[in-house]
Amino acid sequence: MDEVRNLIIIGSGPAGYTAAVYAARANLKPLIVEGVQSGGALMTTTEVENFPGFPDGVMGPELMDSMRKQAERFGAEFLTDDVTRVELVDTGVVGSDALHTVYVGETAYRAKAVILTTGSAWRPLGVPGEQEYLGHGVSSCATCDGFFFRNQHIVVVGGGDSAMEEATFLTKFAETVTIIHRRDEFRASKIMAERALANEKIRVEWNSVVEEVLGADGKVSGVRIRNAHTGESKVMDVTGVFVAIGHDPRSELFRGQVELDDSGYVRVQAPSTRTSVPGVFAAGDLVDHTYRQAITAAGTGCSAALDAERFLATLE
Ligand code: FAD
Repeated sequence: MDEVRNLIIIGSGPAGYTAAVYAARANLKPLIVEGVQSGGALMTTTEVENFPGFPDGVMGPELMDSMRKQAERFGAEFLTDDVTRVELVDTGVVGSDALHTVYVGETAYRAKAVILTTGSAWRPLGVPGEQEYLGHGVSSCATCDGFFFRNQHIVVVGGGDSAMEEATFLTKFAETVTIIHRRDEFRASKIMAERALANEKIRVEWNSVVEEVLGADGKVSGVRIRNAHTGESKVMDVTGVFVAIGHDPRSELFRGQVELDDSGYVRVQAPSTRTSVPGVFAAGDLVDHTYRQAITAAGTGCSAALDAERFLATLE
């Protein structure tokens, strides 16, 4: 069994690294178990144009590397591996000195406080071309990438509130937005669906699924869709494919240990980052199904470090 640490941070996206910067500067000497795929969701993207402080934009991996270096400079310790199991001890008493255990394989790390920042994953369509053109026309985030599709023809895949919101938002930039939905009515709330359908830039391909994302010269050039009723396939010439069929929080490790909401996101006592277990905090997209931005994840990561610092002070 290892030494007892003040704080372990699980995850290394903007939430985890920001928590690491704050905790390291507060001299808590945090251990960041950053995952085998360190750096989080922005490692899979190219240019980030909406993170404040970068007037000319910044490449996702470069931004994450800078955050990591900043935390390292103040003494954060990193372990580039996946957490395989946790034992979060709920004594029910704030200020009790329960120790939480984080396992990486057979190795156990104990800490007085833990911050969970394992993010969420967008649900892919799983069709040919989707992964190949990710970041080159295929996107899972209209807020992030809408700006790149000015005066272009694009599609949004999905039929829920997120798809309606993304499609409506994208009409600010795109020439046309076609929603591709596999059923003959939307799952979205009535008001969101009506707003989308009333928008003159929005069209709908009902009862249709995307079979393939097509590309030319390294970027999206179209989609092949099939109508489930007629069985007919056709190609649509579009330059953007926004996938909006849902997100899944990466909370499996924590199920049964901290309270989750109905969709599996970790529940916190907002505006704090306190979970249902004293000494355990959560931040970023693991908690947030509303904003899902790098800056909001970084913001709650900061809050989590400050909450952990205050919690640890009560133990002294
Ligand atoms: P994540 O960044 O998802 O990080 C989660 C971390 O947890 C990862 O490091 C992962 O390895 C780690 N982890 C998971 N499981 C384990 C485990 N068992 N053990 C250890 N570690 C684990 N936002 C913007 O603001 N602007 C943009 O331009 C933008 N572009 C985007 C482009 C793409 C392609 C994507 C997918 C997202 C984009 N976003 C953008 C959204 C943004 O990336 C997320 O909102 C943000 O990264 C969430 O941060 P997070 O720290 O909560 O989680």
